Amino acid sequence: MNGPHVILGGGPCGLAAAWELARAGQKPIVLERESLVGGLCATHEKDGWRFDLGGHRFVSASVELSRWLEGLLGEDLLTQERRSVVLHDGRSFKYPLDAADLVRSLGVRENARALAGYAEARAVHALRPRPDVSFEDWVTARFGRPLYDTFFGPYTQKLWGLHPSCISADWAAERISLLHLGDALLRMGGVRRSEIRTYARRYRYPRHGMGQLYEAMSREVKSLGGEIVTGVRALSLEVAAKRVVAVRADTVAGPRRIPVGELLSTIPLTDLAQSLRPGVALPELRFRALTFLNLMLARRDFSENTWMYVASGALAMSRIQEPKRRSVAMAPEGRTSLMLEIPCNVGDGTWRADVGELRRRMGAELRELGFTVDDVLDAFVVRVAHGYPVYHLGYERDRQETLRVVSEFANVRTAGRQGLFRYVFMDAAMQMGVVAARQMMQSARDAAALDAIGRARSPIETSALTA
Ligand SMILES: Cc1cc2nc3c(=O)[nH]c(=O)nc-3n(C[C@H](O)[C@H](O)[C@H](O)COP(=O)(O)OP(=O)(O)OC[C@H]3O[C@@H](n4cnc5c(N)ncnc54)[C@H](O)[C@@H]3O)c2cc1C
Repeated sequence: MNGPHVILGGGPCGLAAAWELARAGQKPIVLERESLVGGLCATHEKDGWRFDLGGHRFVSASVELSRWLEGLLGEDLLTQERRSVVLHDGRSFKYPLDAADLVRSLGVRENARALAGYAEARAVHALRPRPDVSFEDWVTARFGRPLYDTFFGPYTQKLWGLHPSCISADWAAERISLLHLGDALLRMGGVRRSEIRTYARRYRYPRHGMGQLYEAMSREVKSLGGEIVTGVRALSLEVAAKRVVAVRADTVAGPRRIPVGELLSTIPLTDLAQSLRPGVALPELRFRALTFLNLMLARRDFSENTWMYVASGALAMSRIQEPKRRSVAMAPEGRTSLMLEIPCNVGDGTWRADVGELRRRMGAELRELGFTVDDVLDAFVVRVAHGYPVYHLGYERDRQETLRVVSEFANVRTAGRQGLFRYVFMDAAMQMGVVAARQMMQSARDAAALDAIGRARSPIETSALTA
């Protein structure tokens, strides 16, 4: 090996890889663009108020990973129970969607419409079975048109900024836990008992926000001799004989040339492929961006819910979160806060709106939902360009084409949510980091092993309908 192990990106995947390498006596170098580590799991702090990027929770079927985190955070790793609801049409529904609650909360007419729509969808499917291509196909075949029109369609379009007929059915299959309405009703009636997938109601959460975990991990890496460079403004890769031989980084301390032995990238897959093969024509792999409006409130509590989904397609916000419901340390004593999540595209009106404009717009939306928020002490906005990988129709072919470019380079592997363009959660991202680190130590490369992580459906579903 002619240089150190270099990792692009200091999110969960990159830091887990660095930690695994450092624990094995290696001296990895992590290059991170932001000033904070943790990637999408970072926590922003202002005057004693703390806000995640979207309110994260840790759930994992991996005992090894859970033990790691417990060792790292000790008593600061809390175990919490979640409460979440969907706000729709002046009513609130349990979340994850629960058949019994749906039947109770929908009126007699809506229930009848939902059942008729479901029966029609099943009949059509029995007569003319056809594969599910889009999200819309997947949901309407299993839940019928009325429930799709009420719950799944408008929210999905808002979240992705794409009509559900243009979103791959893979996303629904990966993320919706109920099999179909009939199955849900049989479970409700006690006719079917076996659980195929259930939601984890309890989760782990660091006392001072999810970012605390990654700051602790970053400290550990440094204490073991690794290097974490934050605030990297630009990166370019030096390539020779189908290997990356060095990374050139424009850092806060000035330009650096870092020789590379083995490389792990967790930055967006297209950015990596373009750095490896500048000028090569690549398919577009798009990410949905997110704008977070963080509001500090003068009151003690806002609601009993950890988060509330806003189903209406007419309102821009997708979720309302109260960070204090995850840990009381997220707000100063006697105060609380709200984080409003607004899906958008880089450069659109939401992305460009300043804090005053967003406060005005979101204030009106909150009022429409029946909330009064007239005690805002302060507010700030955080934006992320790469919130959700957009699974457009045909995305898998495009993803594979881009991965092929990376596979030409013998000492490069790509992993994580942005790196593999996969809708994975932090536990899968960390596991990918660990596996990638082990490959780096053996100068081995097994892209299939990395891509297999986070695909198996565990009996405890770690995700919700959406992240
Ligand atoms: C709103 C929201 C809520 C979520 N909730 C949960 C949850 O409750 N539980 C859960 O487990 N998961 C959740 N997730 C998913 C979780 O955030 C991701 O799975 C996890 O962050 C992926 O880690 P990663 O390291 O692969 O990618 P990232 O966290 O995206 O990290 C990639 C890093 O690379 C850096 N980078 C990018 N480009 C460059 C560059 N050119 N140079 C240097 N650095 C660069 C980025 O700044 C970032 O730090 C949520 C995600 C979102 C968006």
